[in-house]
Amino acid sequence: MAITLPDLPFASDALEPHISANTLSFHHGKHHAAYVANLGKLIAGTDLEDKSLEEIILSVAGDASKAGIFNNAAQVWNHTFYWHSMTPGGGGKPSGKIGAAIDRDFGSYENFAKEFVAAGGTQFGSGWAWLVNNNGKLEVRKTPNAETPLTDGVIPLITMDVWEHAYYLDFQNSRPGYMNAFLEHLVNWDFAEANL
Ligand code: MN
Repeated sequence: MAITLPDLPFASDALEPHISANTLSFHHGKHHAAYVANLGKLIAGTDLEDKSLEEIILSVAGDASKAGIFNNAAQVWNHTFYWHSMTPGGGGKPSGKIGAAIDRDFGSYENFAKEFVAAGGTQFGSGWAWLVNNNGKLEVRKTPNAETPLTDGVIPLITMDVWEHAYYLDFQNSRPGYMNAFLEHLVNWDFAEANL
């Protein structure tokens, strides 16, 4: 199966005013698309060509000679997961099963939000902040560059891209401004609950 660029799960202006159509046109149409194109070239004619994206990521993780394949494959996966981690009118304190699980494992939504923003804020350089399910317990993680918690055997619930390309056009250097907008207005809690 060829790895292709999935459509955004919303219109390109649907996350405005928090994330602009201009940001998404570069982030999805250029950055995400480039990871897909690069991966396609790297696996063409190899035994990875017919594998799923998840199989490719897990089979090359930790192999320094295949870092290029890992980086592009994981970035394809991470970005698709990121688009689904946001929805117009999302964000805020969740209710339902996901809200109860956050209260159970972090003590409160406010504690979770603090930990999540700290993870994104202390990821030096490029990377990702995650809410994951580690064997039944929710945890916040951060990963550098293309790294993904898929390789740690945990189940990602949501992710936030903290590479500068995710926010620079809308927030310039203010990663905190972007992270607050993500939490207050964009998180797709229905997606997080479905992954639970
Ligand atoms: Mn990105």
